[in-house]
Amino acid sequence: MSKSALVMFSGGQDSTTCLAWALSRYERVDTIGFHYGQRHAVEMTVREPILDWMGLHYPNQLGSDVLLTLDLKGITRGALLDDGALKEATGGDGFPSTYVPGRNLLFMTYAAVVAAQRGNQALVGGMCETDFSGYPDCRDNTLKAMQVAVNLGMATNIRIETPLMWIDKAQTWAMAMDLGGNALVKMIQYSTHTCYAGDREHQHVWGFGCGECAACNLRANGYRKWHEAYSADIHKKFYAREPVAHLSQASDRLSDRLGARLAARIWARLRDRLSDRLWQHQPLEDCP
Ligand SMILES: [Zn+2]
Repeated sequence: MSKSALVMFSGGQDSTTCLAWALSRYERVDTIGFHYGQRHAVEMTVREPILDWMGLHYPNQLGSDVLLTLDLKGITRGALLDDGALKEATGGDGFPSTYVPGRNLLFMTYAAVVAAQRGNQALVGGMCETDFSGYPDCRDNTLKAMQVAVNLGMATNIRIETPLMWIDKAQTWAMAMDLGGNALVKMIQYSTHTCYAGDREHQHVWGFGCGECAACNLRANGYRKWHEAYSADIHKKFYAREPVAHLSQASDRLSDRLGARLAARIWARLRDRLSDRLWQHQPLEDCP
């Protein structure tokens, strides 16, 4: 396991998955978040409970959390900074209206400075080209150039790692399941925040959100696609083999050999253990 990483952690699905990814690879993981005048500043309020959850599930690995305040409203633009423009699909420059020019470049630069001061070997971010919103500062080439620039500028050797760069939202849900099973997926469903409108009132199977903005649509479609494939896979593995019929025959054989009373006791123990295992692999339920 490598030594330490700094994760750019906003409290959203992507950065939370990246945090779990980093915790599975690094001995110590620090986090950094940005208050930048975002309309969905509610994402900042979910960071702490998520960090508490991660601290319990990955004991003694979480390091410090830094929260920086940058007033981006004073220097750039975009619907994420402007209360009125979220419903526009694209801005005048052809990019999504939610694109905030330079935002991720600034975040990366600040985060790299913090990583250099703390001695982190890696800087981890949830940027993605596959299923993304078209932001040019989330592109792989941009981040490779940033890695060169910050290391030249600070005489460091920090790696910028983007585990989600080439996967879509469905695969991001699958990654969470691989990393932390049902417990991590459930936590991501109900504790992380993605919605650009900052909606924490409406609960869906994929989490909280307005259900209409681009971020909600990406998250919801990814969840449905992943859940459908995951449920089909689980059904194939554990239910399509008619396990109940096999178990019933096994119970009868046990009873023939050992007598009904002893067989019943052994069978009860076996059944408890088996049901625990089956329960762990059951398809996820929809939210209440
Ligand atoms: Zn939304």
